[in-house]
Amino acid sequence: MPKHILIVEDELKIANLLENYFQASHYQTTIIDEGTQVIDWVRHHEPALILLDLMLPGKDGIDICHEIRQFSNVPIIMITARVEEIDRIIGLEIGADDYICKPFSPREVVARAKVIFRRLDPLLNNEQIQKLPLFLDEETYIANFNQTQLDLTPVEFRLLIILHNMPGKVFSREQLMNALYEDHRIVTDRTIDSHIRNLRKKLHHAGCTDEIIHSVYGVGYKYEL
Ligand code: CA
Repeated sequence: MPKHILIVEDELKIANLLENYFQASHYQTTIIDEGTQVIDWVRHHEPALILLDLMLPGKDGIDICHEIRQFSNVPIIMITARVEEIDRIIGLEIGADDYICKPFSPREVVARAKVIFRRLDPLLNNEQIQKLPLFLDEETYIANFNQTQLDLTPVEFRLLIILHNMPGKVFSREQLMNALYEDHRIVTDRTIDSHIRNLRKKLHHAGCTDEIIHSVYGVGYKYEL
């Protein structure tokens, strides 16, 4: 059974875009473009996730979120048009699971939804997934931390992907060099070290205060939360 995503959005262009991306990832979708119908629908359909626009005709997203929380823990991703609104709605503690600001990349919305599903999956339950809003898109080479783009060079991006895809695995500098430079061009250990240094710096600037790329003395590096 595919998971059912409810998209509450009155701008149909955006709603359809989200629908296309979620359907392409094999989710079932329903669009509601008006606020007053949402509660009833949720009571009768139990969606796996709700994408909830803040400004809606009929009833706004904050009220809807409040009301849903009276009877359901369904994950809710709030969508707002302005980044300043995010602080305000977080302050209201309305019980949303995540927040996304327009304009967004629909691919990132799908990725965020998957993070929430992973978090809820008892087999993969790892609270730290939630703590680290790192988003890597291997097709576009876009890396975001907390919605801040990291502006990585292609080499830094590949380095991060290699480490990130096998959390906890220790890679030697030589392994990283071989993985990064398929043409076996001559690079030194120091090249890897300086890429790692830059990566850490960029992550830090984007607000990632936890060390996620760890040095393993005498061996190399690993990615770990
Ligand atoms: Ca709207």
